[in-house]
Amino acid sequence: MQTPIRIDSRFPAMGTTIFTVMSRLAAECGAVNLSQGFPDFQAEPALFDAMHRHMLAGRNQYAPMAGMPELRQAIVDKVASLYGARFDIESEVTVTAGATQAIFTAIAAFVRPGDEVIVFEPVYDSYVPAIETVGGRAVYAQLRFPDYAPDWEQVQSLITARTRMIIVNSPHNPTGSLITAVDLEKLAKLVRGTDIVILSDEVYEHILFDGEAHASLSGHAELAARSIVVSSFGKTYHITGWKIGYVVGPAELMAEFRKVHQFNVFTVHAPSQLALAEYMQDASRHLGLAAFYQEKRDFFRRLMASTPFELLPCRGTYFQLARYGHLSDKTDRQFAEWLTREVGVAVIPISVFYADGRDDRVVRFCFAKQEATLQAAAERLRKAL
Ligand code: PMP
Ligand code: GLN
Repeated sequence: MQTPIRIDSRFPAMGTTIFTVMSRLAAECGAVNLSQGFPDFQAEPALFDAMHRHMLAGRNQYAPMAGMPELRQAIVDKVASLYGARFDIESEVTVTAGATQAIFTAIAAFVRPGDEVIVFEPVYDSYVPAIETVGGRAVYAQLRFPDYAPDWEQVQSLITARTRMIIVNSPHNPTGSLITAVDLEKLAKLVRGTDIVILSDEVYEHILFDGEAHASLSGHAELAARSIVVSSFGKTYHITGWKIGYVVGPAELMAEFRKVHQFNVFTVHAPSQLALAEYMQDASRHLGLAAFYQEKRDFFRRLMASTPFELLPCRGTYFQLARYGHLSDKTDRQFAEWLTREVGVAVIPISVFYADGRDDRVVRFCFAKQEATLQAAAERLRKAL
């Protein structure tokens, strides 16, 4: 069908997210898909049983705008027990349709036209389009290659009177790096006395390796007082397709967040909230996640040791970065496409997470997969490279 309308696009330069592009190409080519981040294994039946039970019990109408009280209570209890901060169930926690919506809503609630938002490159791909959609401007700080550590002096030099927000993400997608308690102190010092809001994307809060502790902004009293902290059940319970997450933050910030949330999604799928509230009662489910994924990380790294890729450290998330510059002259986009089409393993090129397309010849593998899937991928890589 053809439209008679001439569309003066609001976003003429905006393409399609790399995760969609690579997953589609993987499907087309029959490649092992280690590109987009999602598990290829099932969540526990107890979660599905609970959802089914709540549906049959008639819990199928609108949830309250902020989320089911049962789930808000479970979230607040979990955050208190992990990070020592007790948010108010009525005014300081909101259930969202995944972290992507939470991030977009937080940006829309706080960023005014002309405001600047500091983000760290490589930057998760939804942040900058959200900032630009509401008329803000992204300002880029760099995570230092190859350890991807923040440079707080650089951040300081980027702060202006227009800086409205700083977005942090730890454990970090795509690099698997972490920010530490020392980083939080430096960040606190930088924003002290300003009106800068921190948006902290902590969707991988339970996936840290080698005994590292997650430095949640919720657990840093000074920063928590100016932060919206985002998490997602998709990562924690192997249900990325359910699209349920949440935000916590001080009441005054949450009131602003809800102004946008109520007229955007209004409220989130009710029976899955009840199922999650029940499922969260067993803390071993989120506390065991780090060990579960550490085993996968180590398994995958052992397999990759028999290929010529050079692996970078992976301290958290379910992503492994690998350097290939000694194997090929291709750009990382070309290399990712070649690997998908010709070798049959789909990956994510890292240059897409840089505004200027900086290319360090690094690609990202997702290891949230069954051992057989990882083995099949490694076998193909071993034969081809
Ligand atoms: N932030 C980061 C860093 C992510 O990796 C993801 C998903 N992979 C999201 C946000 C979005 O999470 P959700 O699927 O809950 O929208
Ligand atoms: N965040 C996931 C990843 O990094 C993908 C989410 C998406 O497809 N938008 O792979």
